[in-house]
Amino acid sequence: MLDTLSLGRRPGSMRTVQQHIASPSRIGLEMIAIREGGDIDLDLRLESVSEGVLVTGTVRADTVGECSRCLEPFTGEVSLYLTELFAYPNSVTDQTTQEDEVYRIEDDLIDLEPAIVDAVGLELPLRPLCTDDCAGLCAECGIRLAIAESGHGHEILDPRWAGLAAAFGAGSEESSSASDSKNNEEK
Ligand SMILES: [Zn+2]
Ligand SMILES: [Zn+2]
Repeated sequence: MLDTLSLGRRPGSMRTVQQHIASPSRIGLEMIAIREGGDIDLDLRLESVSEGVLVTGTVRADTVGECSRCLEPFTGEVSLYLTELFAYPNSVTDQTTQEDEVYRIEDDLIDLEPAIVDAVGLELPLRPLCTDDCAGLCAECGIRLAIAESGHGHEILDPRWAGLAAAFGAGSEESSSASDSKNNEEK
């Protein structure tokens, strides 16, 4: 919440806000987000315009995520530039837009939280990666390739060769047991 009372409604009034706030909730997407209580740095400019207060500036925060390729947790940061109009009550903008189209000033207060939630949600990747070139997991055994021996792989027997190997194995077992029984009779 930011108080706009001191800004007044005179177009041209301006105020800057540099603040660290604790994130009131987990803000982000399923696999990556600003954690609840995490620092959010605001460096904003509030400017009174005829229809409301224009808020511009940067929002920066640390993020915690889970890599969508290797599933390891990792930390990072999100930084974005915010440009949002918060409409005055009874302004033309207020009266000609839907509730969810434009943010509103209520009781001379700007509630930044929904604007930050929306902007961070758009900025963060749906499939975050721990590193851009994350090798992911071995498709055969699931080991994380970043910690596997170099050249990690599996000898995959061609199913046709596997069939032949089984036939030879069975044949040699029969013949050896047959000769064994012959030897036993002779003794
Ligand atoms: Zn990864
Ligand atoms: Zn493997």
